[in-house]
Amino acid sequence: MAENHLQNTLALHAGYEFDTQRTISVPIYQNTAFSFENLEQAGNRFALKELGNIYARLTSPTVDVLQRRLAAVEGGEFAVCASSGSAASFYALVNCAQNGDNILFSNKIYGGTNTLIQHTLKRFGISSKEFDIDDLSTLEKSINEKTKAIFFESLSNPQISIADTEKIVQIAKKHGIITICDNTVATAFLHKAFDFGVDVVVHSLSKYVNGQGSALGGVVIERKGLNELIKNNPKYPAFNTPDASYHGLVYADLNLPIFCIRIITEWLRNIGATLSAQNAWILIQGLETLGLRIKKHSSNALEVAKFLESHPDIKEVNYPGLQNNAYYPLLKKYFVSTQASGLISFEAKNEAHARAICNRTKIFEIVANLGDSKSLIIHPASTTHSQLNENELKTAGISPTTVRLSIGLEDAKDLIDDLKQAIEN
Ligand SMILES: *Cc1c(COP(=O)(O)O)cnc(C)c1O
Repeated sequence: MAENHLQNTLALHAGYEFDTQRTISVPIYQNTAFSFENLEQAGNRFALKELGNIYARLTSPTVDVLQRRLAAVEGGEFAVCASSGSAASFYALVNCAQNGDNILFSNKIYGGTNTLIQHTLKRFGISSKEFDIDDLSTLEKSINEKTKAIFFESLSNPQISIADTEKIVQIAKKHGIITICDNTVATAFLHKAFDFGVDVVVHSLSKYVNGQGSALGGVVIERKGLNELIKNNPKYPAFNTPDASYHGLVYADLNLPIFCIRIITEWLRNIGATLSAQNAWILIQGLETLGLRIKKHSSNALEVAKFLESHPDIKEVNYPGLQNNAYYPLLKKYFVSTQASGLISFEAKNEAHARAICNRTKIFEIVANLGDSKSLIIHPASTTHSQLNENELKTAGISPTTVRLSIGLEDAKDLIDDLKQAIEN
């Protein structure tokens, strides 16, 4: 597969060489362990002198195809999958920071990632501080010598905002800190974070990549040349000093994409939130049509957003694809053809109205998910973000009147009719 092929071609072909049976569908390798040709080969694989399969907690052929394909579509160097997007975010973060370090994170991120960073990582001795994605002067002020990662979403969920990625990257580069961008909502088809200097991209594959709400998965992808930032950078001792858990290996000595390699050798090996071959196969099917679907999600959502904007009972519509949206200039700068995905949020008249709309829709299902081919609706304050306290909700930009839609692939007119009756009923 030539590197210079375009994204739709890569999504269908990259990373798969026919096996002996020449199956056109990527085969599912349903196995736990792999046989070595001899003990010397086994030893070389364990020592990372030869890359190859050992045990399916670390690598497996079906997952490998998906990883290569995701790295190609994203324009990255190397990718490692995990059993969910949450596991991928966790691995990316703990690959940067350890006990005593801190992480800076955007105030507008997925609720689960917010609690992971603020509460779970805290129990591991990793502290964190929020910055305002809409006011990046708050970012640099919080950086100190213990800051090891800056985490944000390119298009955030559910209080939709678009990151000024180049500005974040510029600040991070000045301090030699790794940037991690969650690109789940935008997908690589709308936003190529590596083109704007981001170091690491994470995705929940459970959303648009899957597209049918049928499998969980996550991925961590590193940019080309990330080794240069990590090697000899005193901020990242885990890569630059001998690893006692891996017979004294120094990752920086390897001529491999060390960010992802260490996710395999440290995090998948010892924690084991590995993507299964079955789910990798399901996600491969989704990835093959992602480019086509994300266009339709975006055009449907634009029609729905225009309808909501025109409705007198809707106080505010947040969809970056609307030209009067505050994020439209950033959408234009960072996103392909000003497409803005299927995610819309809006403010109902009051909390009771917001809840009633969710309960009255007939096509939109109340589901705590996004990116499905079917349209979904949710009330974030009482569901996906209910773990956040009042203050955290406020800084995340969510109010009790917020309703979030994930626009699917139905006919836009049917979606508009359904919302109309739910709003007015
Ligand atoms: C869903 C989601 C996650 C978590 O992914 P899972 O696969 O559900 O663990 C992370 N980030 C974003 C933006 C998401 O939408």
